[in-house]
Amino acid sequence: MNGPVSFPVRHLSLHNSFLLKYLALFGSTGSIGVNTLDVVRRQPDRFGIRYLAANNSVDLLAQQIAEFRPEAVAVNNREAAALLRSKNPGCEVLDGDAGLKELASRANYDIFVGALVGFAGLASTVEAVKQGKRVALANKETLVVAGELLSALAHRSGSDILPIDSEHSAIYQCLVGEPENSIMRIILTASGGPFRLTPTESFSGITPEAALRHPKWVMGRKITIDSATLMNKGLEVIEAKWLFHQPLEKIDVVVHPQSIIHSIVEFVDGSMKAQLGMPDMRLPIQYALAAPDRIAESYDRLDLLSCGPLEFAPPDLDKFPCLRLARESGMRGGLYPCILNASNEVAVHAFLEGRIKFTDIPEKIQWATDRAPLDAAAPFGCGSDEEIAAGLERIRQSDVETRVAVSRLIG
Ligand code: MG
Repeated sequence: MNGPVSFPVRHLSLHNSFLLKYLALFGSTGSIGVNTLDVVRRQPDRFGIRYLAANNSVDLLAQQIAEFRPEAVAVNNREAAALLRSKNPGCEVLDGDAGLKELASRANYDIFVGALVGFAGLASTVEAVKQGKRVALANKETLVVAGELLSALAHRSGSDILPIDSEHSAIYQCLVGEPENSIMRIILTASGGPFRLTPTESFSGITPEAALRHPKWVMGRKITIDSATLMNKGLEVIEAKWLFHQPLEKIDVVVHPQSIIHSIVEFVDGSMKAQLGMPDMRLPIQYALAAPDRIAESYDRLDLLSCGPLEFAPPDLDKFPCLRLARESGMRGGLYPCILNASNEVAVHAFLEGRIKFTDIPEKIQWATDRAPLDAAAPFGCGSDEEIAAGLERIRQSDVETRVAVSRLIG
């Protein structure tokens, strides 16, 4: 992308850098949401909560309302919203897709935190980007399916999209102060998941319980399964393409089981920069909220003398075909990443319910991408608001069609 150099990060200043920044936190009851609220709780002079949104976890949301006193909340599930209204008569409660979208489009907040799971996060993120907000993005699916359109929208509105994903936060931190044309290669590190050393012959017997035991990170269920198939890393490759404006050929993956190095950038002169830290999501969350400032905090510190040797290995694409499928869809572009993502979400859901095998997940994705419509790779137009709206509608339709088709296939 030709345009202004993206680094260093712009300061999020209103009048002065000590002014309280208000958050619209979408996905407040999930793992990223709860960690974000802990950052806010620890930094009451810097951050406050203006809006919360969640899918349906009423009890936790009610607790969060009592503690953080948001001006309004949105709940996707209408029955859950009604229940919440009866419990919290003092708080405005919006509901459904339209409610989430409306909350994100309000003007009186500073930072949008996008932490809803899966495709559901797209519409509200689009509204926040249109508003020119700082967007701290944990929902990688949003950039995977609509990265081209969101980048174009952000360019027009002046919105800064900062990653919460730990690998991308690492890359962002490595790139601060570096000119964009100095990047030779981005190297995303992968823990390899719980089945790195499991023989391929045993893969068809992997249970949801085994796949949900991630060796390094405690996360939500969908992303934990994606980490076990390495689809998570595949989605992250596409995410990096849009965040850092780099072609996929310049984005590599290396397996690093210790998860101490969160990612690496290699520069044209052969120098490499890496970012290291404890596997604690509050670090990238806090950075995305405050960057380029760093906030002094008392989280557990990395002890280099006790973290042991650091290992690196290439990913095994035969054992983990999801990583290959993601890269292929990213290379084809257009609707392919959307089809990849929708079929993966349906397949992961079916696997968690015990309806398909672990090894069926990449098969369903392959089936969905093989039957993509002829014009699926056609690029999006990004020249006008109308073209961007048409592109988003194309994505929405493709998402629905793919989900219906893969659900039928699974039966
Ligand atoms: Mg990650």
